[in-house]
Amino acid sequence: MTTSTMPIDTPAIAGGKPAKTLPYGKFKRYGDEEMTQLKEAIDQGSLFYAHGKKVYGMEAAFAKKVQAKHAVASTSGTAAIHAACMAAGISPGDEVIVPPITDMGTVLPVLWQGAIPIFVDLDPRTYNMDPAAVMKAITPKTKAIIPVHLAGNACEMNAIWPIAVKHNLWVIEDCAQSHGCTYHGKPVGTIGQMGCYSYNEFKHISCGDGGVTVTNDEKLATKLRLCTDKGYNRAPGVTDRNPTFLAANYRMTELQGAVALAQLGKLDFIVNSRRNWCDRLTKRLANFPGLLLPKTTEGCEPSYWFYMMRVEPKTLGATADEFAKALQAEKLPAAAHYIQRPVYKYPLFLNHSAFDHGEHPYKAVDYSSVKCPVAEEILDTCVVVAVNEGYTDQDLDETVKGFERVVHWFQSKR
Ligand SMILES: *Cc1c(COP(=O)(O)O)cnc(C)c1O
Repeated sequence: MTTSTMPIDTPAIAGGKPAKTLPYGKFKRYGDEEMTQLKEAIDQGSLFYAHGKKVYGMEAAFAKKVQAKHAVASTSGTAAIHAACMAAGISPGDEVIVPPITDMGTVLPVLWQGAIPIFVDLDPRTYNMDPAAVMKAITPKTKAIIPVHLAGNACEMNAIWPIAVKHNLWVIEDCAQSHGCTYHGKPVGTIGQMGCYSYNEFKHISCGDGGVTVTNDEKLATKLRLCTDKGYNRAPGVTDRNPTFLAANYRMTELQGAVALAQLGKLDFIVNSRRNWCDRLTKRLANFPGLLLPKTTEGCEPSYWFYMMRVEPKTLGATADEFAKALQAEKLPAAAHYIQRPVYKYPLFLNHSAFDHGEHPYKAVDYSSVKCPVAEEILDTCVVVAVNEGYTDQDLDETVKGFERVVHWFQSKR
């Protein structure tokens, strides 16, 4: 038998034409708005934040956007979290509760303070910290919780915050992936005492690299400024500039401030567009067998930094790797496993190799015996779809078509 025409739904991995016919829509990230701001920064004659208007202006605009009283800029999301840890007084030997699926920027600051990251397990469908696991992890040494609002979906803060209050803990929200995300109507980052955002090249908005820590507490805001500026107090009228604690130099320059200020003007569009596209994707994939679509936390309006689903290999007839490979053949932006392994399985933890030699309090924890089974299952079974605000209706149709034929194909082979 000669087959000149294959059935229309033959997947690309089996020789069909890829479902995606055109490259995905993408917007130019930086343009005239950034140029205008940059020129103004240059024309100021100084690129130092304390002598200019861009960093301060961006901080004011950012604070307003997230409904916080204060915002303090820094050089990265990691720096923003480190500044928060310093401001909270996290010190050697303290324990800080963190999730095992996150960016290193969540945990490095804890180690820099000489403190001990304590990993707790996650909710299987939101991929965020499980409040019950947080409760179980608390000891007399616990000083703080760093909830990470992963992929633009909020943690269950209505459960986490009361735990923190009861045990007198700091809550430092990691909002690096959740610009524009709200929880019960409030922007994330203002539920705990401090919230930390990233402007790295890959986040919703960017200035190349940068960070912001927000707070409603004026004293904390003052300390955050010292934390990011070598402990020097540059407030007008202050004459005593003698540093009192171990700070860092995480100063944002006016150039970054200028670009970030322009980017803030684009945030609503970026978030609305991503939310709209991903919500429609969820609706259209809802009845496909073997897919566990991401669950939005109750009360959250997510902002989708990426779209992460899980597969049920038995029902689907494919592992995450096999499924992602077939989706890639359709030219879909899909990949299995968000990070290669849970953070506690990195050599940094297994080998206690933070420093070349000498002591660090985290050596008291044998990370090879840490187990977060849900997190491990999430990483084994997850497939991440990259998201961009430039995605079109055609992108949606073709993405769904790609999923549809790949799911059917694996189903037919079961
Ligand atoms: C990106 C990211 C960070 C760190 O931000 P940088 O600006 O890259 O330092 C921290 N936490 C999470 C969850 C992130 O995704």
